Amino acid sequence: MATLELHQFPCLSDNYGVLVRDVASGNVAAIDAPNAEQVEATLAAKGWKLTHILTTHHHGDHTDGNLALKARHRCTIIGPRAEAAKIPGIDTQVGEGDSFMFGETEVRVFDTPGHTLGHISYWMPTENTAFVGDTLFALGCGRVSEGTMEMMWTSLAKLMKLPPATMIYAGHEYTVSNAKFALTIEPENEALQARAREITALRSAGKATLPTRLEVELATNPFLRVTSPAIIKRLGMAGAKEWQIFGEIRERKNRG
Ligand code: ZN
Ligand code: FE
Repeated sequence: MATLELHQFPCLSDNYGVLVRDVASGNVAAIDAPNAEQVEATLAAKGWKLTHILTTHHHGDHTDGNLALKARHRCTIIGPRAEAAKIPGIDTQVGEGDSFMFGETEVRVFDTPGHTLGHISYWMPTENTAFVGDTLFALGCGRVSEGTMEMMWTSLAKLMKLPPATMIYAGHEYTVSNAKFALTIEPENEALQARAREITALRSAGKATLPTRLEVELATNPFLRVTSPAIIKRLGMAGAKEWQIFGEIRERKNRG
């Protein structure tokens, strides 16, 4: 049975880096590389040697560290086939339905476009862990920068089908502002109210609100709750399609 050690650390202003070590093989992957120096310092502190970078999408706050880390560690960079030309140093292109072994740990790839057109997510089923980049956040989701609302909704719906106990690692600590917004969409949701209090407490103690568990997102994240009668009523969208309700919530967040 594969076993992983995961280490999440803040990077840049509000990004997270994650280092994943496959214990059996000693392989170490960085999930995205927001900044080479910060990844390097974290590797040094752990005494780990980088063997892989798993890239979720092309934005600079996820790829700016790629070339410097590759030059130093000769690591293999795995990234999205659909936007491979925009991923510095990419060696291996992957997309929907692909799977590969990271040491002794199986990794499965999903296309999750919307934030960018080629965005992918990585799922390690034996570890109940998924790395979703800027697709799904704690109580939020990524901006739909390149794709359409329907595309982004389809991507989120794919992640929603993972086992509820899946731990979700995401690219940014946006949770306080997401919680404030979520309460405007579904103020009567008691699980959300409790979580918002928990998030305020975590952040005032300087702690991360990620990773998050999928079942917690399903119960509290308004972007995933397009079938909530209270939300449909508040938005006045009875009879609308799920992606349209999602789109309306996303538009409101963009304006807010
Ligand atoms: Zn991004
Ligand atoms: Fe980002």
